[in-house]
Amino acid sequence: MSPDSDQRLQRFVSRMPKVELHLHIEGAIPPETLFEMAREKGDDPPLRDLEDLRRKLTYTDFAHFIELWTWMTTLLREEEDFERIAYDALKALSAQNVKHVEASYSPGDYWRQGFSVQGITESLLRGRARAQAELGIRCQFIVDLIRDHGPERGARYLDEVTPYLGQGVVGIGLGGSEQDFRADPYASLYREAERRGFRLTAHAGEVAGAESIWTVARKLGVQRIGHCTRAYEDPDLVLFLSEQQIPLEMCVTSNVRTGVTKSVEAHPIGEYFRQGLRVVVNSDDPTMFNTSITQEYETLVRRLGFSLEDLKQLSTNAVEASFMSQDEKAAMKLLFQKEWEELGESPL
Ligand SMILES: [Zn+2]
Repeated sequence: MSPDSDQRLQRFVSRMPKVELHLHIEGAIPPETLFEMAREKGDDPPLRDLEDLRRKLTYTDFAHFIELWTWMTTLLREEEDFERIAYDALKALSAQNVKHVEASYSPGDYWRQGFSVQGITESLLRGRARAQAELGIRCQFIVDLIRDHGPERGARYLDEVTPYLGQGVVGIGLGGSEQDFRADPYASLYREAERRGFRLTAHAGEVAGAESIWTVARKLGVQRIGHCTRAYEDPDLVLFLSEQQIPLEMCVTSNVRTGVTKSVEAHPIGEYFRQGLRVVVNSDDPTMFNTSITQEYETLVRRLGFSLEDLKQLSTNAVEASFMSQDEKAAMKLLFQKEWEELGESPL
């Protein structure tokens, strides 16, 4: 690709209307904000510049990523910080023409700091309200129950966020150490959450294999699957996902950076898409993985042979797979249609 068409593609993809469904708000704190927060805290050893921060955020494997994630959580020193990170993260997304975000947060990660689920949630909701009022970007939150904490603590988190359901919180998710903690014990908690009106997703098939995906699909009854990268390990599972059309929140760069897949080229997203699975493109933790939702779409074109027509399909998949109401989805699809027309000619 010539430098000229390279730039045109970048501009085009950045202006495309988008919906982001798999994003951890703490992993999406813009690098500038994260750097400032590290300075304010007096992080030791101090970060010299953004490049230094970028170097720090490179991983040898998934365990190393979790280690840096824990470091990042210590930079949040009071509940009010969540308002700032929500606003700054949404602003960065809005600049890429992201219209709607379903962002996870993991309130259980902050018990050491003595933060309450309520305090964190209300702070995030203030940041969300400010971003929506000033920038027009919409956001709903998904509460990560964190596998490592077990279903009993999960039940407490669920109770504590229930008052915010429909007020900016839309669903529950299950992140954490997939290889060490199975999802089965969460089955009844997921039923209870569904009864209360929560929408359901869970990470699976990222660090663990096909069996883990079967568990969240069959026992947890999830409406979307986070990652689902390793579905290819079981052809029956791929067939099942194709028949059921369960949306898959795929995160290519994240998988490469944590060593789930060897390279972008080895990632199964292209194969799943061509086999008719309901694929959605996401950035997971854009700052932690030095990526963005724009770069994720670009990567598909540059390195995995996707066409612009495919990107359009993927962005429509994201609207359909979102937890918006049917009316909201219809309005969003019309808006997408209009903006795609305005984008005009293909830059390729
Ligand atoms: Zn994730």
